[in-house]
Amino acid sequence: MRLSKFFLPVLKEDPAEAQIVSHKFMLRAGMIDQTSAGIYIWLPLGLRVLEKIDRIVCEEQDRAGSSKLMMPTLQDADIWRQSGRYDSYGDLMLKIKDRHDRDMLYGPTNEEQITKMVADHVKSYRDLPFMVYQIQHKFRDEIRPRFGVMRGREFYMKDGYSADIDHENAKQAYYKMFASYMRTFARLGVKAIPMRADSGDMGGDLSHEFVMLADTGESEVFLHKDWMDVDPLIEDIDYDKNLEPLFDKWTSIYAATDEIHDPKNCPVPEAEIIQSRGIEIGHVFNFGTKYSEPMGATVTGPDGKEVSVHMGSYGIGVSRLVAAIIEASHDDAGIIWPEQVAPFHVVLVNLNMADENCAKTAADMYQKLQAAGVEVLYDDRDERAGVKLGTADLIGVPWQVVIGPRGLEKGFVELKHRATNKREEISPDVALNKFTAAQKQAA
Ligand code: ATP
Ligand code: MG
Repeated sequence: MRLSKFFLPVLKEDPAEAQIVSHKFMLRAGMIDQTSAGIYIWLPLGLRVLEKIDRIVCEEQDRAGSSKLMMPTLQDADIWRQSGRYDSYGDLMLKIKDRHDRDMLYGPTNEEQITKMVADHVKSYRDLPFMVYQIQHKFRDEIRPRFGVMRGREFYMKDGYSADIDHENAKQAYYKMFASYMRTFARLGVKAIPMRADSGDMGGDLSHEFVMLADTGESEVFLHKDWMDVDPLIEDIDYDKNLEPLFDKWTSIYAATDEIHDPKNCPVPEAEIIQSRGIEIGHVFNFGTKYSEPMGATVTGPDGKEVSVHMGSYGIGVSRLVAAIIEASHDDAGIIWPEQVAPFHVVLVNLNMADENCAKTAADMYQKLQAAGVEVLYDDRDERAGVKLGTADLIGVPWQVVIGPRGLEKGFVELKHRATNKREEISPDVALNKFTAAQKQAA
């Protein structure tokens, strides 16, 4: 992509409304544009990151055996009346009337929609189990939308659902999703700690929030200090096996949200507990027959008896993750994208568009990188060198190739690694090779 033809409205000044660093950099780097309180356009640069995350989430959902579907954003109020949540959900729900005066709503979540689907189509225990998911917009009329996409009103969420014949089987679905979340967040380069969370009136311990520690987080959490030394490792997981032992291992170190944590009855000595702030990036929840019972989602069991389907729901805040990753990975100059979610792999910074040698070298490298399938952004704007270098740091692309007249006279371009700030002078060919070889290996 040529930057001269890319829509990237970079801001020179820090926007006054941004209270946290991710919001500031997302606005400054031209990733998002607010249209109403808590509602944003995902601009091209931001969307590229969102889609990278989207893809990793989907791959890991598929791997765990969940199938993707897509539900409507507008839902019929009747299904929420059946579940009993139409009134209890409160002002978070955006209610809408259609031209026939029928009550509709913009879905804040989809348990009712899924349970209705199960009630309509799943008749026998033989139709179970299954897991489905989608990645789609939700609307919650948050009382205080803030921090940019961290707490939006319209936001982008992965929501998944499982349906099983009984609690024992539902637990297995829960462990699968739990494992898939461990893998998903590790692949995203995020340290997400599974914390015991409030399971409402469900009881049991099958509700966990996945929380990334951050000073700017809105949740208060309590964890054993050993969590500080745990690295986000990706384990190979055999989803056909019983994953309870893995689940037990991952949850063996104490971590809990403030709703669950009880200092008086905590199994961990006070001296070993850390109180921290965190960002909730995912949530897994077994809700049993809470919706299937009132909504009549029953199946005939092997013994011929009708039983309510046992269900669970599993959310990931995909748009919130974009901001969370920035909170965890930035410096004063801008964002530092982990490779796997970066909007581009490399940015070519041509310091002097008027210099023939620079223009020729940059255009040649750009063409070859594109041909090799490397995600490259070519800064060919008619701007001062300082502005271009500033943009490159701000948008956080992992690799910068800086092409200037003085270096080229010696036959060199400068290769800069954004995360470590390491620079080396190498020939354009060596630089090219480095990226095209890595691309070939990845393909
Ligand atoms: P919170 O406690 O932050 O309000 P929640 O517990 O109500 O979130 P869930 O219903 O568990 O949210 O939704 C699943 C995921 O969606 C959350 O873990 C979070 O990452 C994300 N999410 C929830 N609300 C928002 C929002 N207003 N803006 C962006 N992401 C959100
Ligand atoms: Mg939650």
